[in-house]
Amino acid sequence: RAAMAKSKFEYVRDFEAEDKCLPNCWIVVRLDGRCFHRFADQHDFKKPNDDCALNLMNKCAQAVMEEMGEIVIAYGQSDEYSFVFKKDTNLFKRRASKLMTLVVAKFASSYVFYWKDYFKDKSLLYPPGFDGRIVLYPNDQNLKDYLCWRQADCHINNLYNTVFWTLVQKSGLTPVQAQERLKGTLANDKNEILFSEFNINYNKEPEIYRKGTVLIWKKVDEIIKKKITTGETEEKEIEQTRMRNRPIPLHCDIIGNEFWEHNPEILLD
Ligand code: ATP
Ligand code: ATP
Ligand code: MG
Ligand code: MG
Ligand code: MG
Ligand code: MG
Repeated sequence: RAAMAKSKFEYVRDFEAEDKCLPNCWIVVRLDGRCFHRFADQHDFKKPNDDCALNLMNKCAQAVMEEMGEIVIAYGQSDEYSFVFKKDTNLFKRRASKLMTLVVAKFASSYVFYWKDYFKDKSLLYPPGFDGRIVLYPNDQNLKDYLCWRQADCHINNLYNTVFWTLVQKSGLTPVQAQERLKGTLANDKNEILFSEFNINYNKEPEIYRKGTVLIWKKVDEIIKKKITTGETEEKEIEQTRMRNRPIPLHCDIIGNEFWEHNPEILLD
């Protein structure tokens, strides 16, 4: 019966569109929190940068990398994360919808699952959403430029937000007044306001705020606890060191050659 039903109805499968990613291209999945401006307000995120929120984002991205495999680098800032699959990946036969939805779903469920580890007593008021998109980059330069573009975005937004919130928090300006004050200012003007009026050297602000987070695979020693049986009934716990490959967070420049020269394996097949 089941088999007959299948043959009769199975033609509907042909309505599915093929969405295989072009071969030889870097596959980038970028996700972004839905209405996180509001989400941040409602959960009292510290302005301009809430460390718990940033650390939770990074934890979720690590969970995605551990689960999916074949992601060679990820970059995150604010409520967004980009994941780069190795260009010859054959995961899910390179089907775009499979890759994208699995990344976004794993990230979103991790955000909820790990929330309490980062926000302690602060409860999650509703389930957050994340959108996703997939973009293909045909050569290494395009991929590097993509990542630079996201990091430049992080820099521009963070400089603006840092001055904006300093004006609001330390000078008592209203948000509208702070916005007025910043209208038409260039990067230098913003650095100057921070330095001359508030004695803040922007370049000394934490790198996680200014540069975002890069996740790449590194070999690290991990200590694991293991129970061994010693006698007939006795058990003993011993510690062993194991070398593991883990996605490690860095807050460094990916604009410029230094990062790529130090980590050439990222772009190798
Ligand atoms: P959309 O649904 O179009 O993405 P959005 O409200 O999420 O709308 P974004 O451009 O994605 O808009 O901006 C994300 C916003 O989330 C930031 O402007 C900021 O207000 C907030 N936000 C994200 N992460 C943090 C953080 N770690 N600390 C403080 N605020 C944050
Ligand atoms: P894939 O990752 O390819 O989807 P899968 O293991 O999820 O692999 P599916 O064909 O999606 O395979 O089948 C889902 C399986 O999950 C079912 O075969 C069944 O074993 C289990 N399952 C799902 N829902 C239930 C349920 N409500 N009760 C019991 N088992 C369930
Ligand atoms: Mg947006
Ligand atoms: Mg958003
Ligand atoms: Mg965003
Ligand atoms: Mg399934």
